[in-house]
Amino acid sequence: MENGIDDLTPRPALDGDAEFDVCIIGGGLTGLWTAHYLLETDPKARIAIVEKEIAGFGASGRNGGWASALFPRSAAALERQHGRGAAHAMRRAMIDTVDEVGRASRSLGIDIDYAKGGTVAYVRSAAQEKAARHDIAETRKAGVDTLDWLGPEAVRATDARGATFDPNCARIHPAKLVRGLAASLERRGVTIFEQTTAIDFGARTVTTDRGVIACETVVVALEGYTSTLKRTHRSLMPLYSLMIATEPLSDEAWDEIGLAHGQTFNDFRHLLIYGQRTADNRFAFGGRGARYHWGSTIKPEYDRVQSVFDHLHKTLVELFPVAASAAVTHTWGGPLGVPRDWHATAGYNPKTGVAFAGGYVGDGLSTTNLAGRTLSDLITGQRTELTRLPWVGHVSPRWEPEPLRFLGSNAGLLGANIADIEEKVTKRSSIAARILGPLTGH
Ligand SMILES: Cc1cc2nc3c(=O)[nH]c(=O)nc-3n(C[C@H](O)[C@H](O)[C@H](O)COP(=O)(O)OP(=O)(O)OC[C@H]3O[C@@H](n4cnc5c(N)ncnc54)[C@H](O)[C@@H]3O)c2cc1C
Repeated sequence: MENGIDDLTPRPALDGDAEFDVCIIGGGLTGLWTAHYLLETDPKARIAIVEKEIAGFGASGRNGGWASALFPRSAAALERQHGRGAAHAMRRAMIDTVDEVGRASRSLGIDIDYAKGGTVAYVRSAAQEKAARHDIAETRKAGVDTLDWLGPEAVRATDARGATFDPNCARIHPAKLVRGLAASLERRGVTIFEQTTAIDFGARTVTTDRGVIACETVVVALEGYTSTLKRTHRSLMPLYSLMIATEPLSDEAWDEIGLAHGQTFNDFRHLLIYGQRTADNRFAFGGRGARYHWGSTIKPEYDRVQSVFDHLHKTLVELFPVAASAAVTHTWGGPLGVPRDWHATAGYNPKTGVAFAGGYVGDGLSTTNLAGRTLSDLITGQRTELTRLPWVGHVSPRWEPEPLRFLGSNAGLLGANIADIEEKVTKRSSIAARILGPLTGH
C-alpha cells in the first residue's frame, strides 16, 4: 500500500520558501486530526504539515493502542480547578471521543482494528482494592458513566482478587491509524513535507531547515518533542514509555486468560503498566520506568532499555503465567509529553495565529482527536461545546531549569517504584504515593 503502514518511504521534503493557509508542525495524530477536521469545515483550505521524520514516527505510531476516555489530570483535580460542571463536560467529551475515533476512521475507510472492549484493571492487593473501591464510589457519585467491580471468577488467570471494568476504551492498531490518516489527508490535498525540521515558529511563519513557510495559522503539534525547540523548551517534559509484544497466543490460552478481543488491561500499581490483546492475538504490553534524560534530550537509543524490557516481561508473566511460553518478538519505546501540572491543553491565539495542543502524558491516543476537533473550531472562529471545555486555553507552568527538572522527574519515578514496594510490604495505601499525588495530576 503506497505510504501505508508497510511503505515507510519518506514523502518529499519542503524545497524552499512556500505559502499556505495553515502550517502544522508535527505529523502525529494531533497534527493529522487537526488537518482532517479543518478540511471538513473548509475543504479548500491550503494545509501543509512539516514532519522531521515521517508521519507517525512519534508516539502516535508506537503507542499501546488504548483509545480511552482517560484524561491525564484526574477527575477530582479537574473538579477542584474548574468546577463540577466543567469536569463532567470534559469526561463526557472524552467518552464521545472514543466513539469518534472509530467513526471517523471508518468513514475514511481506514481499518485500525478498532474494537471497543473496555478496560479491565486488575486489583492485586488490599491497598489496590481500596483504591479501586474509591474509584468506583467516585464514578458513581459523579454519575456521568459507570465503573463496575468484577469478582475473582472474572480474573481467574491471574493472582488478582478482582478488577474494575471501564467500558469506555477501544483497542486499536495505532500505526494503521496514523499512517492511514496521513495517506487519506494527502489524497484530499494536504501537503505533507517529510524529513523537514521546524527550527522555530512565530506569528504567521514557520522556519524549517528547508525553507520558510508563511501562513495565516501555525499549529504546534510536537508533544514529546516540544522541548527540542528553543522557544518551547520548558513547556513539556519528554518522558519515555517502553513496550514489548509477544508472539501470538492460541485461542485456548486467551480463553484461560479471560481477555476478549478488544479488551485492554492494567492494574492499580503506581508505576503505570498497560496492555492489550492485539487483533492477531499477541500481548502488546508497556509501562513507565525508563528514566528522564538530562536537558530533556531525546535520542533513538533511549527508545530501547533492555532492563525495562526485561522488567516488563517479568511483570507480564507475573500477571498472566500462561504468557511465559510466548516469546517476546518486538520491543520499542518513545517519548510522550508531560506538562508541569499534568493538565493537557488545546489553545489558539487569534492575534498571532498560533495554535497548540498537547500535554496528554500517556493518554493522547483519543485526546489527539478531541484536540483536532477543538483546534479546528477555534481556528475557524466557531464557539461550540468543544471550545468551552475546561482544557481550552489552559496554561501550564513551565518546568524548572536543570538540574531541578532532572532531579525532580527521576525522584518521581523512584517514588512511584517505592510506593508499589511500600504497598506490598505494609499492605496499606502508600504514603509515598499520597505525597507524589499533587505532582502527578491527582
Ligand atoms: C510507548 C508509548 C505508549 C503509549 N500508549 C498510549 C496508549 O495506549 N493510549 C494513549 O492514549 N496514549 C498512549 N501514548 C501517548 C500517545 O501516543 C501520544 O499522546 C500521542 O500519540 C501524541 O500525539 P502527537 O501527534 O501530539 O505527538 P507525536 O505522535 O509524538 O507527533 C509529533 C511529531 O513531531 C515530529 N517532530 C519532532 N520534532 C519536529 C520538528 N522540529 N519539526 C517537525 N516535526 C517534528 C515527530 O517526528 C513526530 O512525528 C503512548 C505513548 C508512547 C510513547
